[in-house]
Order: sequence, then structure tokens, then C-alpha cells
Amino acid sequence: MSRVFNFSAGPAALPQIVLEQAAAEMLDWHGTGMSVMEMSHRGSDFMGIHAEALADLRELLAVPSNYKILFLQGGGLGENAIVPLNLMRGKSGNQNEADIVITGVWSEKSHQEAQRYGAMNIAASAADTGFTAVPAIESWKLNQNSAYLHLCTNETINGVEYHFTPDLAKSHGAAFADMPIVADMSSHILSRPVDVSKYALIYGGAQKNIGPAGLTIALVREDLLLNEAGTSRAHPMCPSVFNYKLLAESDSMYNTPPTYGIYIAGLVFKWLKAQGGLKAMEMHNRTKAALLYGYLDSTDFYANRVNKADRSLMNVPFFLQDESLNAAFLQGANEAGLKQLKGHRAIGGMRASIYNAMPLAGVEALVDYMKAFERAH
Ligand code: PMP
Repeated sequence: MSRVFNFSAGPAALPQIVLEQAAAEMLDWHGTGMSVMEMSHRGSDFMGIHAEALADLRELLAVPSNYKILFLQGGGLGENAIVPLNLMRGKSGNQNEADIVITGVWSEKSHQEAQRYGAMNIAASAADTGFTAVPAIESWKLNQNSAYLHLCTNETINGVEYHFTPDLAKSHGAAFADMPIVADMSSHILSRPVDVSKYALIYGGAQKNIGPAGLTIALVREDLLLNEAGTSRAHPMCPSVFNYKLLAESDSMYNTPPTYGIYIAGLVFKWLKAQGGLKAMEMHNRTKAALLYGYLDSTDFYANRVNKADRSLMNVPFFLQDESLNAAFLQGANEAGLKQLKGHRAIGGMRASIYNAMPLAGVEALVDYMKAFERAH
């Protein structure tokens, strides 16, 4: 058996030890004689797996007790519709708009989709920088009538990450102190500690830093489930399986949840705890990113175009100065066991995604290969 260094942006590499455990338990989970995939989601075995995954995630992210953790389906793009359907009517029940900051491809997609449900105000956009920066918070034009503010705190394609926690009371005054902030954290959730209490809703697809595609995780502050009248804040047309209130009330068991994804995510949570939790992960991730960015900045042969303060620790897009060498670069990388480095078609070039499961040795091997390629050309 040989394993490669897999730089895919998602579905992405998982810790080998997790895959080994899943393989060992595939046919017979803990003496039950069946695979987790074959269990009823309402049986006590799976309920135990589910409860443990919830408890471990709550511990890892220090999720406050007034937040529900939901395990649902629909992925990141599903949330682009699920969020406005659940939240856009606001506390009063008759709001119909939201604000968004556009920092790249994924927030642009969120903007497009949410527009189908109400008015979306672009509070700020980094389009003028070619999506290489997070617009300064003081420049965001927030709208008092908006039910929430939507952010994508790590742009997987553009490689732009928020390295600050928005504090709207500070940047925009007391009138905005309670504006709910919704964050798409699909590609950096669990890469470092985050102050969950500063966000009203955090969501992410699992397939980058958590587990297999098909599982979506949402952390939602409980008061957002209801409007002032004490009934569901969701639009009546919101599908029941995507209604946060129904999901919360049924502990994500309103319908059949993505059971195998929850099981693998649970193993990843245990692995993260064994690594020392999210503070330790952050140090590991900073070390890897510093090595790669440090090299990129030391040469003109390659370039990362993102503003230094806004560079993603997870997704590192880079370009060869001579793009005619792209195919040769990728071929050599493949032969060296460095896989899935091709950049997203939206921006081209290369991209190295270095999520939690990427060991330092993988980034070292990449930098060694890049140096050798530079010498050879
Ligand atoms: N948001 C972000 C930040 C993403 O990286 C992705 C997927 N790459 C999505 C949303 C869309 O996720 P999905 O494909 O699960 O719908």
C-alpha cells in the first residue's frame, strides 16, 4: 500500500489513523456484527456514536450552551439557500434582506443564491483587488434593516482568510452590536480555535477538515430559531428537513442524518483531541503555512498574490511566473507523489490545500519539489 501527499481542496485527505480505524471497524462495529453504515439511526449504537460526536465537537470548539449543533445534509451550497430560508425574515418576522461581504468565489455564490429569497446588500467587495484581500471592516456598509450579515471566513479558491473576529459594535457602533453574523467556515472550521459566541451561525461542509462529503455541520444560536412572536423564524416554504428549529428540536434526527459521515467525523474529533485540540492544530497549521509562504515569498519563480495579512492557512494558491510550465510542474509533482495541486479552474495556477490532516512532511516534500523544479527551469 502506498499513500500520497494529497493537496486536494476537498474532498480532502483524512488522518490515516482514522481511515485505518474505520477500515478495521467496517464489517463489525464493536461486536455488533454490522457496519455503522448498516445501523438504524435511531438504534442505541448509532445514537451513542452521534451523541459522542456532538459532545466532542462541542468540547473542541468550546461551543456555548445556547448554541445547537446540527448535523445535516445539503453541503456548503445548500446552506446558501437554507440560511436565507431560515433567517432572512429576521426577528420581527417581516424583514427580507441581508448583508454580505464578498471576498471570493464562495461568498459570490452565496450572494447569488440568497438573492432568490430576498434583497442582498453588498456591504463590501474585494473584487477591485481581484479577491486578494478582506475589505477593512470599517469600510463595510452595513444596513440596519438586514436580518444578518453573511461572511465566508476562508475563501477556499482565492486563499483569503479572516484573521480577525468581526466586532460590529466596535467597528460600526452600538446600533449594529446585535446584528447576527453568519459565517461559512467550510474550509477552515476546526483548523484553529474560534470564538463561537461572536457568530450567530457557523456552518461548513465536512469534506475538507472533518470527514466525508455529505455531512454539513451548523452551529446555531438558539434565539435565531424563533421570531419575536415565539414561532419559527423560517420561511413557510423552507423544506422541513432544512428547518433549523425542527432539526434542533429533533437533535438532527428529523430525517435520516448522514450516519456514516457523522461516524467518521466523530473519529476525526477524537483524533483532534488526541493531537491536543485546536490550539495545537493551529500551531501545526501555522508552521506548515509559514514554510510554504516563506518559500513562495523568497523567489520570483512562483507567486502568491494574496495580501499577506489575509492569507489562508488552509488553501495556498500560487502561480508559476512562466505559466507555460504548468503542465510540466503538475506532471512532475504527480510523479513525486504530490497530488491534486492543480488550481481551481476559476483562477488557474496551482493550489496546495494543507488542512489539519496534512503532515508537515507533506509541505516539506512540496517545497523540496518546488525548489528542485525551479532549479531545473
Ligand atoms: N463554501 C466554501 C468555503 C467551500 O469551500 C465550498 C466547497 N469547496 C462550498 C461552500 C460548497 O460546498 P459544497 O460543495 O459542499 O456545496
